[in-house]
Order: sequence, then structure tokens, then C-alpha cells
Amino acid sequence: MSNPLDELYRDIIMDHYRYPRGQKKLDRADMSGEGNNPLCGDEIEVRLKLDGDTVQDLSVGCRGCAISVASGSMLYEIVRGKSLDEVRQVAAVVKALIKGEALPPNINIDMGDLEALQGVRKFPVRVKCALLAWTTLTESIESFERQEVRHITTTE
Ligand code: ZN
Repeated sequence: MSNPLDELYRDIIMDHYRYPRGQKKLDRADMSGEGNNPLCGDEIEVRLKLDGDTVQDLSVGCRGCAISVASGSMLYEIVRGKSLDEVRQVAAVVKALIKGEALPPNINIDMGDLEALQGVRKFPVRVKCALLAWTTLTESIESFERQEVRHITTTE
């Protein structure tokens, strides 16, 4: 007998895999990042368009296994319209969820479909697939913010 929760998670993941959200062209991007997971052959490109420090829009181009594509598709849905601070919080929660670690305290975010990703912690090989989109996103934000800081210091 398979666990009904596992089946629900699998259905959610397969829906995102078949109909990935966020695969579109942006007229401009303020930051972007590419990531790949050579163990599985997953590739992802995340591009973000900002309005101040809010993610006005983004695109997620992902090729690879069902888990990596679904994770990127879910990332698109939850990140859109959030501030960079909120995006960082979401990413921390999702990473903990995937790895089966304690969730950061005092976080009140509706995780929606993302809860389905916690099913992968039973499959260590798949953890990297699920994390790829989130690592790519947080590294893009970090390098974007480092440039901002450099920019500020040079104009002073
Ligand atoms: Zn994969």
C-alpha cells in the first residue's frame, strides 16, 4: 500500500513538470543566474525583474528531471510579487523543508504546492534536483547585492 500523501505529492509534482510555470521571456532582467546539477543533468536559468526591491516578474527556464522542473515551476509561483527579503526567507524555508531540517522560526508563509517537495528527503539523490532552483536563485540575489554594494562605494 502506498501512502496517500506520497501520491498527492507525486500528483502535484507531475502537474508542475507537465505544465511548468514561468517559462517565458522577460523584456528585461535585473538579475539572472544559471545552475546545473551534473549528477542528474538538470539545468536551470532564473531571471528576475525588480521594481525597487520587489520581484515584479521572473522567468524560470528549466530542463531536467520531474523534480527539478517542478521545483523551478513552484519557485516561479511563490517568488513573484515578493520582496527580496521575503524571497530569501522563502528560500531558507524551502531548503530546510527539502533537506528535512528544522524550519527557521517565526516564519509565516503559505507554502502551497511547495510542501510536496518534502517528499524528496527520502531520496537523497533527488535532494540536489529539488534544491537546484533555490540555490541558483539565492546565489543570483547574493551576487546582485554584492554588485550593488560595490556600486555604492564607487559613487561615494
Ligand atoms: Zn534531477
